[in-house]
Amino acid sequence: MCIFCKIIAHDIPCHQVYEDEEVLAFLDIKPVNPGHILVMPKKHYQNIDDISEDDFIAVMLVVKKMGKLLKEKLGVVGYNVTENNDPISGQIVPHLHFHVIPRHAGDGHVQWPQSEYGPGEVEEILKKLKS
Ligand code: 5GP
Ligand code: ZN
Repeated sequence: MCIFCKIIAHDIPCHQVYEDEEVLAFLDIKPVNPGHILVMPKKHYQNIDDISEDDFIAVMLVVKKMGKLLKEKLGVVGYNVTENNDPISGQIVPHLHFHVIPRHAGDGHVQWPQSEYGPGEVEEILKKLKS
């Protein structure tokens, strides 16, 4: 059983923020900023590729709810929603979860570095995506 399944089964404690039939949300043990929430399906899916559409919708509705909660209750002015899909992207816990991360002016967290497309590259990518 994965660590989040153990939390969902109440074998390991968490600071729960929200629960319904399909979804659990609790505070990340090592927050990027205080109030950092993890939202996940109660059923074990490794990632977005695996989750059923119904559970995915249920999870995303809670992500939206948690964002609203952060704004209303903690006075957060904005937040990031991230999901590390597969280990290459930084997924450590192999149970699909979304991070809802409060952001504050001057909190020092940098955004993704971006780059430019090389000649013809964007057309090639688009051709593959649409083939
Ligand atoms: P990932 O890199 O898989 O997207 O993120 C996993 C997140 O889960 C990390 O931010 C980490 O701090 C959090 N985490 C790992 N183990 C526990 C735990 O036992 N309890 C809680 N509340 N968070 C955890
Ligand atoms: Zn699990």
